[in-house]
Amino acid sequence: MTDDRRMGVPLPRKTKPDKPIQTLTGLTAIPEGSSVPPARAGVPSTGADRVYEAIYQAVLERRLSPGERLREQELAEQFNVSRTLVRQALQRLAQEQVIELLHNRGARVPIPSLEDAGSVFDARRVVECEVARQLAGRLSAEQLQTLQHLAASETEADRQGEHALAIRLSGEFHQAMAHMHGNPVLTRWLNGLLPTTSLLMSRFKRQGGQVCVAHRHVDLIAALQKNPAAAGAEMRKHLNELEQSLTTPTTPRRQLRDVFQAYRDSPE
Ligand SMILES: [Zn+2]
Repeated sequence: MTDDRRMGVPLPRKTKPDKPIQTLTGLTAIPEGSSVPPARAGVPSTGADRVYEAIYQAVLERRLSPGERLREQELAEQFNVSRTLVRQALQRLAQEQVIELLHNRGARVPIPSLEDAGSVFDARRVVECEVARQLAGRLSAEQLQTLQHLAASETEADRQGEHALAIRLSGEFHQAMAHMHGNPVLTRWLNGLLPTTSLLMSRFKRQGGQVCVAHRHVDLIAALQKNPAAAGAEMRKHLNELEQSLTTPTTPRRQLRDVFQAYRDSPE
């Protein structure tokens, strides 16, 4: 995604609103410690859906890194589905900019640049500050409880060193707010922006910083119970902090060291 034209506010996804990804917003309570997306009762899951969801989540949770290749044959074997179904999933993911298809060279996880970060965070501020403003003072006790539960689960996951889970819960907090707002277009836009945010965090996050610090989510919940100006301002502050945590490309250096570690340790 380095070269590209696609990092502005994305077009709404071409999927139907009831496709699986929308249901990942998890408005039902999420079981403590669960690493499985909330059950999608009544939503049929095809082979292509399973591949789609697994890759989307893996990008979101940063288990797939920027630039990583996604080979059809390997995925087909992993998921025990045909290459045709894998291709369908990859095409849908590419349409939604979660991965990119390289001409005659298969698929890979995009490598967003710091310039892309500016575009992504601008778009997130537009969407999410508005969501926060409009939600302020309107959330039911049950909705507030859902957000509190997500923030508490995220803190707990982080404390236990379950980083993938903490990252996912942190994304779900933002998705849950958008879902509670109730505008499906804003929800789709946000869903389109979160994978790139995760990839940017993988590449450029300042070492030692967290993704979404859970206490910021607690502050957001407090602001949501005040007024639109406070809620919008708190969301802006949170997104600004996230954007400012992106500085040095740390991943390549770490990967290189890991690569050579194996050679240094191998017995002669
Ligand atoms: Zn956050």
